[in-house]
Amino acid sequence: MTLRLSRRAERLTSSLIRDILQVTQRPGVISFAGGLPADELMPPLDFEGLADDCRQYGPSEGEPALRSLIAERLSALGMDCSADRVLVTSGSQQGIDLVGKLFVDEGSPVVLEAPTYLATIQALGAYGAEFQGLPLSADGIDPDALRRAIARRRPAFVYLIPTFQNPSGYCYTDEVRHAVAAVLDETGVPLIEDDPYRDLVYQPVDRTPLCAYLEHAPWVYLGSFSKITAPGLRVGYLASSPSLFSGLVRLKQSSDLHTNRIGQAWLIRFLNSAGFDEHMAQMIRVYGERRDVMQIALLRHFEDLAEWRAPAGGLFFWLRLTAECDTLAALQAALGRDVAFMPGGPFFPATGLRYPALRLNFSHAAPEKIEQGIALLAEILGEYADRGRTRIAIRPSRACGPG
Ligand code: PMP
Repeated sequence: MTLRLSRRAERLTSSLIRDILQVTQRPGVISFAGGLPADELMPPLDFEGLADDCRQYGPSEGEPALRSLIAERLSALGMDCSADRVLVTSGSQQGIDLVGKLFVDEGSPVVLEAPTYLATIQALGAYGAEFQGLPLSADGIDPDALRRAIARRRPAFVYLIPTFQNPSGYCYTDEVRHAVAAVLDETGVPLIEDDPYRDLVYQPVDRTPLCAYLEHAPWVYLGSFSKITAPGLRVGYLASSPSLFSGLVRLKQSSDLHTNRIGQAWLIRFLNSAGFDEHMAQMIRVYGERRDVMQIALLRHFEDLAEWRAPAGGLFFWLRLTAECDTLAALQAALGRDVAFMPGGPFFPATGLRYPALRLNFSHAAPEKIEQGIALLAEILGEYADRGRTRIAIRPSRACGPG
């Protein structure tokens, strides 16, 4: 008897990141691959004293005290958001999945950045989304290109990561934020704004959520505690404009009833504690230093191989290679020499916009390992880059960070 699975199941692909992460758990491997917080900076977990109530089933929308804290933070950023329109999710990844369930049928068009977050491509792709990628530069997407894409084929929604984007680290300028919001308001196309990196900021840049600028277009804003506390807690959240909220709550109920109450209770206590501000300051200081160490190492070893902008926040450098390169083969060689990176290819929603690139994480490896790992990577990529033959012209774009 043949096993009949859904079409969705047939479309599932494995995550290259998860596959690489397995290898990088080996002791001694210098990993620039995942987007992991530094182990030594995650706050210690102490569940003692949490209310016994957390053992019981809880509200699907999340713990009221956490929803209020989130609503306060989002309102302070200029968003129209009250606690009754905040849904606590099992990581912001679940928010992406719920959005897919709410909006995407087989063949539904979705507009997103190229490159964009790999797991969004996978999650929405599984629901049958057809992607229209917009080239991303250090200033953001081109608002006119967005308008043209919407006119060509009206998408179910536009998914953007305007602040310290994954994988590029780019941050939209204030001008682009306003212009993109204006196009969405004009056309009424919903915006899904994914914003898990906003608090990891190393130099002042505009970070106002695009959702705060919208007046008419429906929106969903996705946030996360993974990058600033501990991803193992699996606590993220979404907030939305009124018309979308009840659908998202019902979909959440059918997916897992509610988010982990113990994680939520721990977070409420941690966010309200005197230690939270200190923790954030330390994380920002240490990651900022690691970013600078990586920037110096890249200048030393990668100047002939790639172009990049030092990110003003987030967790990644995005290296655009100046020559064609089989980055998957280079990755195999790198793993053989105990250093890991993410090839850029899988971050592109469509092959047409692809160019050779790598994503390098700077939060996880210790500073002395960063210099060592970058030197090794440059040596390996130098062997795989098709230099001399196919040099790629890169259009200059304005930096959002230094360098
Ligand atoms: N969105 C983006 C852009 C991300 O980079 C990540 C994590 N890498 C997520 C969502 C998911 O994060 P989490 O589920 O841990 O909140």
